[in-house]
Amino acid sequence: MSAPFDRVIIGTLVTTDAVLDNGYVAIRGETIAAIGDGVPPPARETIDHSGKLIFPGLVDGHMHTSSSTGWPGIESATRCAAAGGVTTCCDMPYDVPVPVTDAAILADKIGWVERTSHVDMALYGTITKTGGLNAIPGLAAAGISAFKLSTYEYDAVRFPRIDHPTMLAAFHEIAKTGLPVAIHNEDQELVEKLTAEARAAGRIEPIMHCRTRPPLAETMADLEIFEMALETGAHVHIAHSSLSRGFTIAETFRNMGAHTTGEACIQYLCLTEDDIVRLAGIAKCNPPLRTAAEVERMWSCLLADKIAYISTDHAPWPIERKTLPDIFACGAGLTGLQSFAPLMFSLLEERGLSPTLMATYCAERSAKLHGLWPRKGAIRVGSDADLVVMERGDFMFDQSQILDRPEMRWSPYHGRRMRARVAATYLRGQLIWDGVRLLATPGTGRFARRPSHA
Ligand SMILES: [Zn+2]
Repeated sequence: MSAPFDRVIIGTLVTTDAVLDNGYVAIRGETIAAIGDGVPPPARETIDHSGKLIFPGLVDGHMHTSSSTGWPGIESATRCAAAGGVTTCCDMPYDVPVPVTDAAILADKIGWVERTSHVDMALYGTITKTGGLNAIPGLAAAGISAFKLSTYEYDAVRFPRIDHPTMLAAFHEIAKTGLPVAIHNEDQELVEKLTAEARAAGRIEPIMHCRTRPPLAETMADLEIFEMALETGAHVHIAHSSLSRGFTIAETFRNMGAHTTGEACIQYLCLTEDDIVRLAGIAKCNPPLRTAAEVERMWSCLLADKIAYISTDHAPWPIERKTLPDIFACGAGLTGLQSFAPLMFSLLEERGLSPTLMATYCAERSAKLHGLWPRKGAIRVGSDADLVVMERGDFMFDQSQILDRPEMRWSPYHGRRMRARVAATYLRGQLIWDGVRLLATPGTGRFARRPSHA
């Protein structure tokens, strides 16, 4: 007679509402089969992480594997995910050479995920600059987790600005699918004007990135997309608010009956304008970093439960794109996957907040918005056995340890003290990171399909 469970993992369980000492998670196949505390049940294998904290594997609701390298970036970026405690990535559609604008392209990308990803991956879809709205139902039916559109143009093909009439029509179509649509929220005309003025004045130093993308550039875009949310009934989600005001605006529109939410990236909870002065292009992201006072307002927003979830917006540009002397020429986006769990844990500890908030905002909430909960983002019977084990201590984040390709081994968090490290990551019951070595191989990860509403 075989033991009832394949594997039992012992440690302190951290869920969204409790910290359970002397806990255990019992796994059968790829699934959590029992949870409890005290004497663990018999199993073929018992792994003792006593004294360490076991969280649900993080669900990073917003990241980019393929902005600079195309889909081969999935293989290398997801190594960082495994080491950073992220078991499910929700990857953005703005890939080179082709963004994910129809079901055929999506099928190709899913093939890359299944062959090369080290963790599970949900996928966003988008539309073309000139429309392509008829592809919306097919993308939804094929299992994307969300749509992504932009009010700001980085590239006419890869990352286009969608004009108001097209965006309005797209929201009507997307509303029928029931899927959320995340929006990159910056006002094109304001940013272009301010940038042109700065360049003309020879002001290309790092702080000018923040000055040319003032808070108003963000909140004006928030208002436009939310007015269209109110009109169409679509679930419109700010892909990243660097401002507490963005969440207040989302709440105001919810109170008017719209389905509006907003997301914070972890950098807006800890980095400031001083960091872009210190780190130049390494700390360039869009929207830009704000003031220390704004960071405090962001935390107030989080504790007032106005933030949908916290993501990384991981975007690994090669280092030569991040170290140009002209701040405007540098690529926008930070690396954040491998530091995600240690940094979030540290930020909570430093503020005397409960680690349960990491389970809430970096796992359950993101999984819910992407339609993946409770299979993902939960320590519950029946959920995938996706777990991250954190060991408390005094650690230093070292960018040379980043597992991505060599030119992607940079981080705005290099040298930062961390209050914990990722001692182990489990994906569907399988150990994929043991604290030192990556045990996942390309193809260990799978496409995390959003179940159909129909
Ligand atoms: Zn992004």
